[in-house]
Amino acid sequence: MSDKVEKVVIIGSGPAGWTAAVYAARANLNPLVLAGDGFNRDRFPGGQLMFTSEVENYPGFVHGISGQKLMATLQEQAERFGTRVETAFVAEINLGRKPFEIRASDELNSRELTLKAHAVIVSTGASANYLGLESEKKYENFGVSACAVCDGALPRFRDQPLVVVGGGDTAVEEATYLTKFATKVYLVHRRDTLRASKIMAQRALENSKIEMVWNTVIEEILGNEQDGVTGVKTKNLKTGATGEIACRGMFAAIGHTPNTAFLRGKLDLDEKGYIRLQDGFRSMTSVPGVFAAGDCADSVYRQAITAAGMGCKAAIDAERWLAAEGIH
Ligand SMILES: Cc1cc2nc3c(=O)[nH]c(=O)nc-3n(C[C@H](O)[C@H](O)[C@H](O)COP(=O)(O)OP(=O)(O)OC[C@H]3O[C@@H](n4cnc5c(N)ncnc54)[C@H](O)[C@@H]3O)c2cc1C
Repeated sequence: MSDKVEKVVIIGSGPAGWTAAVYAARANLNPLVLAGDGFNRDRFPGGQLMFTSEVENYPGFVHGISGQKLMATLQEQAERFGTRVETAFVAEINLGRKPFEIRASDELNSRELTLKAHAVIVSTGASANYLGLESEKKYENFGVSACAVCDGALPRFRDQPLVVVGGGDTAVEEATYLTKFATKVYLVHRRDTLRASKIMAQRALENSKIEMVWNTVIEEILGNEQDGVTGVKTKNLKTGATGEIACRGMFAAIGHTPNTAFLRGKLDLDEKGYIRLQDGFRSMTSVPGVFAAGDCADSVYRQAITAAGMGCKAAIDAERWLAAEGIH
């Protein structure tokens, strides 16, 4: 390990990470971004938006922008002010002593990196859980989504029947939200009661546009190259009966997994693994000098713009903390 100590290391290169980098670089903190190594989808430099086609709700782009273009632009902006970038995935971090020690690897190029940092901004995101079907992968962005707020208003879903899978708060929220656009929403759930909070479940059950499909799992996403998703194949777990639901979209709403495994036991995390912020509003974590931003610390909003806003807060908090510690 070299003796050099970075002022601030930013872990993750989604909207939160790049925004933190823009602010940190403009504050002369010479930030280093560990961007992920692309070994798999959850470790991809640029984050989740690299896997979506059109982003229509990020402010500043009247006609929308492709997810990849948005992320490339954010990176360029961060680099313009001197941000350095390493393609690396953090496997281990020692927050028990100062300066912090980080071990990262670039598995695709068999490269290891060890470094020290006075401050760390964690912006590693949260991965949407999918059903795990091959056909689901095939139709991702062609009718399969994991985010109703992000994709529900796209033309392909308007005035069409849609399916939402899940039974918790997210599923009920997504189904209710999609009724703004869909002709009908089928809420497919493997049990015969919703796990969602009572009030939300009641709202969904009373919504005439939502039809509950109880005790049922999805076995296959149906579709073709021209139209994308055209339906789903279902199986009733009680009777064993199989069936089909015609729909133009399938929204997986079966939770998210925050990418915080490497922080377990080192930072205060909630029961699902989201990083707990000190007062729920600022970006400080349970360890002074470690800040968090974006979906890894936000189980509620999970949008690119909220992640970017949190990245801004984390960089400003880190800058002030470093100054208070006398680190310039
Ligand atoms: C299909 C889909 C469509 C979406 N569409 C929209 C939309 O239209 N509008 C919108 O506002 N939001 C949309 N979202 C949500 C949006 O993508 C997220 O809210 C946003 O990307 C969160 O940003 P983030 O920076 O917190 O995390 P992410 O974008 O998830 O980035 C996390 C980064 O951390 C890296 N990383 C993870 N673990 C490590 C580690 N241990 N070491 C180093 N790096 C690591 C990853 O490689 C990645 O670079 C969509 C999400 C999905 C899944």
